[in-house]
Amino acid sequence: MSKGYDAIIIGAGIIGAAIGYELSKRGQRTLNVDMLPASGYGSTSNSCAIIRVYYSTLDGCAMAYDGYFYWKHWTDYLNAGAGETLAAFHETGNMVMKTKLNDGLRKQLAHLDALGIPYEHWTSGDILERFSFYDLTSYAPAKRLQDPDFGEPTGGEIAGAVYFPKGGYISDPQLATQNIQHAAQRVGADFLFNRRVVEIPTQGDRVQGVVLDDGSRIEAPVVVNVAGPHSYKINALVGADRDMQISTRALRQEVAHVPAPQGVDYASLACVTSDSDAAVYTRPELGNNILIGSEDPPSDEHSWVDPDDYDRNFSDQWTVQAHRLAQRFPSLGIPNKLKGCVDLYDVTEDWIPIYDRSCVDGFYLACGTSGNQFKNAPVAGKAMAALVEFCEAGNNHDARPMRYRLEHLDHEIDLATFSRLREVNQNSTFSVLG
Ligand SMILES: Cc1cc2nc3c(=O)[nH]c(=O)nc-3n(C[C@H](O)[C@H](O)[C@H](O)COP(=O)(O)OP(=O)(O)OC[C@H]3O[C@@H](n4cnc5c(N)ncnc54)[C@H](O)[C@@H]3O)c2cc1C
Repeated sequence: MSKGYDAIIIGAGIIGAAIGYELSKRGQRTLNVDMLPASGYGSTSNSCAIIRVYYSTLDGCAMAYDGYFYWKHWTDYLNAGAGETLAAFHETGNMVMKTKLNDGLRKQLAHLDALGIPYEHWTSGDILERFSFYDLTSYAPAKRLQDPDFGEPTGGEIAGAVYFPKGGYISDPQLATQNIQHAAQRVGADFLFNRRVVEIPTQGDRVQGVVLDDGSRIEAPVVVNVAGPHSYKINALVGADRDMQISTRALRQEVAHVPAPQGVDYASLACVTSDSDAAVYTRPELGNNILIGSEDPPSDEHSWVDPDDYDRNFSDQWTVQAHRLAQRFPSLGIPNKLKGCVDLYDVTEDWIPIYDRSCVDGFYLACGTSGNQFKNAPVAGKAMAALVEFCEAGNNHDARPMRYRLEHLDHEIDLATFSRLREVNQNSTFSVLG
């Protein structure tokens, strides 16, 4: 591993692997370094891997819709050979409840209209016709279990939903990452596992490569921080946090898996759901289970942690998420044996990622993915590869931000949306919904 590279990517999660793939396709010699034993072993491995097209910003929606097409045509994206085991895209669509909290998704739908992204309005009758096990009583705002008002109706019913047919989920996010790793290796990329980056040497204002925990030094004029929840530690190593207006930190999350109500074949019947009245999102999970994630309501305290030292056991957060879904599915059984996962988001102030250069020449940022960028990994890979070339060619991205033309829709993303120097975006939901 003494040879030099054109670019070193710190991290081999879904986004790190995608950046390695795209830079390699452009003829660069790349190395992804990860301290874990395989690609997609970090926070990507526990991603709910939901693919959806609605975000609070126009560029967010555009990027997600462009991303949808890579998942839809996964074999083509990877240029995968026959017989290769690939992650499956379950295109179930997404049903999002219209609530007071999300204002019936008015803002998001305006973006979708502008971009020509399809959706349908469903009445509460349409919901019940498809999912007879639903109770549409309103319980908002979400409460903790200890609250004596937990489970008490607060007036009225869910008014209906918006259904987005172009969406669903990836069954195995780690396999998807390994698919990209193999695609990248086919075009010449290298991957190094079980090695931690401990130092990022610089000379003048420019990055020189990385030093690993075994003392070895690998040279490269470009280093990309795709370290997920560890991103802030990597930025601190090289002083890249000096001018960042937007920072990143690690937020602990619990995801619950509970068996579907008796007699319900959830995988074939249900779709991905988002319900801000109950403050949970769901998707089918293997074994006729339902995966339940949290939409982070104000009643739940944020648990900011050190990514190298946090509690991986379930807490009462698991139980509250399960009970919140039980408000919607009264026949849901909640088992005593807790299943699911505990992992970390890498969160920015406005829950919108950073895809940018840094104040250190040659050091780039693809971080702060805020629990909502798995779906965008193929697009992020392409945009970051283009950004690296743009900046390395001498363009001043901070003064005149690069625009990235999406491949599947007639839209250019203004990368200033994802700048480290941006003001906090007040249009955000300030939640995992981005
Ligand atoms: C519970 C959960 C649910 C989610 N659900 C969704 C969803 O439904 N839809 C969606 O779009 N997104 C979702 N996300 C977000 C999505 O999974 C992430 O945005 C995405 O996986 C981030 O990928 P990454 O490659 O940037 O980071 P990671 O997968 O975190 O990879 C970073 C890698 O960097 C490595 N690393 C860190 N420090 C060092 C170092 N010093 N040296 C070497 N290696 C290092 C780590 O080992 C790790 O493998 C979810 C995330 C979580 C945690």
